[in-house]
Parts: sequence; structure tokens; C-alpha cells
Amino acid sequence: MKSKAAVLREFGQPLSIEEVEVEPPKEGEVLVKNAYSGFCHSDFSVIKGDIPLPLPMICGHEAAGVVEAVGPGVANIKKGDHVVATWMIPCGQCPNCLRGRGNICSTNMAYFMTGTLLDGTPRFKDAQGQPVLHEAFVAGFSEYTVLPQAGAIPLPSDFPLDQACAMGCCVPTGWGSVNNVAKIQPGNSVAVYGMGAVGLNTVAALANRNANPIIAVDLEGSKEDIAKEFGATHFIASSKEDPVPAIMKLTGGMQAEDGSWVSGGADFVFEVSGDPGALVQAYWSICSGGKTVVTGIPPAASSSELPLMLLALQERSIIGHLYGSISPGLDIPALVNIAKSGEMKLDKLIEKKFKIESINETIAAMDKRQIKGRWVCEWD
Ligand SMILES: [Zn+2]
Ligand SMILES: [Zn+2]
Repeated sequence: MKSKAAVLREFGQPLSIEEVEVEPPKEGEVLVKNAYSGFCHSDFSVIKGDIPLPLPMICGHEAAGVVEAVGPGVANIKKGDHVVATWMIPCGQCPNCLRGRGNICSTNMAYFMTGTLLDGTPRFKDAQGQPVLHEAFVAGFSEYTVLPQAGAIPLPSDFPLDQACAMGCCVPTGWGSVNNVAKIQPGNSVAVYGMGAVGLNTVAALANRNANPIIAVDLEGSKEDIAKEFGATHFIASSKEDPVPAIMKLTGGMQAEDGSWVSGGADFVFEVSGDPGALVQAYWSICSGGKTVVTGIPPAASSSELPLMLLALQERSIIGHLYGSISPGLDIPALVNIAKSGEMKLDKLIEKKFKIESINETIAAMDKRQIKGRWVCEWD
């Protein structure tokens, strides 16, 4: 069947809006008509080539829609079901999966990196009959897409599909980083660098765990209102003020005569922006014994010089994680139940809906840091 799609053909260039051919679902796969697809900062990193994936590729890894057809052997999902796609699919059998760490499944990470489904082939072809790859199993910016059945998480039919697409990336990544990775306790002092949709969900999850203070940091002062709406107790515009001394002061820091900090710093600092400079600032914002949680994915070519001695001498930690260390099939339905209470404020998260024809304007708006919350592509 034919499908409209946004194809990345060259890094750093606009996406090409094309009609692609979608093959029917094979064994253990489902065909989904997307209703809404979110534009995540990691898509922007893929488009720039900061996360280098093979091309041509249909971008997008945050999508929710309705099952159109199922392939042979699919028993738990049927036509008409509402589903949200996940961008990592545990194989269930590799050492990481057997340890309950399917978010870094070593078998399926290989297919993630090659842009195919789990048999090593894509389901899309362009007008010239050439194969087109899937970003992260999802290919969210195609109206129709084929997903492995374990990558299609069933949703309650009354859950709004525009909010449901956020359940595929920004909600589980933010909430998982707080609950699975940092294991925040009430009263922990925290800071979060980067108030995109993942950062806002991190703040919401920290508020849910009664962390205090919750210090939000973003280059753009215009993000203050939405950061506080989601639960931040303080906000620092890092383009106007150095966030490190500000966080030290807000966490009770005292300075020696030479200006060095003898106390202060947050128990946990989340770096969500993926910016290497912000990661260094995040490291300097933790207390002795504190933990830097690395959520944002820095560019592949980036490196950093951090003082190593303090890792041991002050028990400082830097913890990386992928996808909030969730088990998609278990944690996404649980998070959907929390979202149904309204506590996640997903209605406030979805700032704008756009049509696929204007996706390059959305990319430009993200480049200019003009997006507050999540912008989602509306297919109908
Ligand atoms: Zn994402
Ligand atoms: Zn696995």
C-alpha cells in the first residue's frame, strides 16, 4: 500500500515528503495507521547526523495509532486496537534481556542500528523501488508503518492518541530516569538541565516523588512557565546566569575564601539536553556523593574532559541510561495508567499539532529552541 512519509536522504538537509510503498506485515508484525507522531530532540540529532544512522530512513520514534492489519502468528493484537510504538524491542533471550534489561537488548540493538525490522529487512520502498529504512523500528513519520508485535503496546481505546504518542519516548524516558535509574527518595535535592519534553517529564516524575528543591535549567528563559507548571520549584536561564553557582546556593552551598565550594550541590542532576557543555555543568552541580544522570544523547563525535579524581575522592557518579531503563511491555502500560489520572499534564505537554508537509518548519523551530513541550504531527 501507499503511504505519505518524511524521508531523511542526507544529514543536515530538509526531510523529503514522499509517497512510499509499505509491504504487508510479515509473521509476528502489525500494520499501524499512525494518528499522531511526536517530534523528539533525538530525531533532530539523527537528522543532523549527531546520531549517525544509515540512510535513506523514515524518521520518527514517537507514534501512536490504530492497527490496520496483523501478520501471521499475531495473537495478542487485532485490527482496530489502539497502540503506541516502542523504539526498543527486547528479544527476551540475550543476557541483558534475561537480567530484565531489555532496554539495552544486545540482539535487537543491532537491528536498531541498521534501521530494519527484526528479520534484517525494511518494509518500505521509494518510488524507484529502492529500500527505505525505519528509524528505531517505529518510522513514526510515515502515515502507515509496520511494527514488530512486541513493539506495539496496546492502549485503552479511550486514551487520547495525541497524548499517547508521548508514551513512546518522552514519558517513559523521563519517568524511568527518576524511578528506575536514580531511584529518587522524598526530599532528594535535584536539578534538571534541558526543558524539552523529556526534561519536563523528568521534572513531573521528580515532583511525583517529592524531590525538593527541583531546579530546572534551560538556555531559554521562556521555558520557565512550563517548567514550573510541571513541578519545578526554581528555574535558571543558563544563557543569562551560570547555573552551577546558582544550584550550589539553592542547595545550601558555602564557599571558602578562595571561592571553592565546601558544601552544597544537588543529590541528583539530570542532563537531558545532550549538550556536552551542559554535561560538564551538570557534573559540577552535584554534591559530594551526588550522581549525574545522563539522559540526553550527546553527538557521536563529542568528548569531554572531566576531573577524574573527584569520582573516587568525593564518590561522585556519572550514570548513563537508555530509555529510562524501562521494560517497555511492562512499564509503558503502567505509565499510561498514571497518565489517565491527569497527573502527567500531557494535555499541557502537547503544544502544537502540525501536518507532515510542514515538518521542516518544525525542525527549524527546534533548531531555534522555539518548541515548548511537544509538537506532534497529526495525520488526519
Ligand atoms: Zn525520543
Ligand atoms: Zn535481548
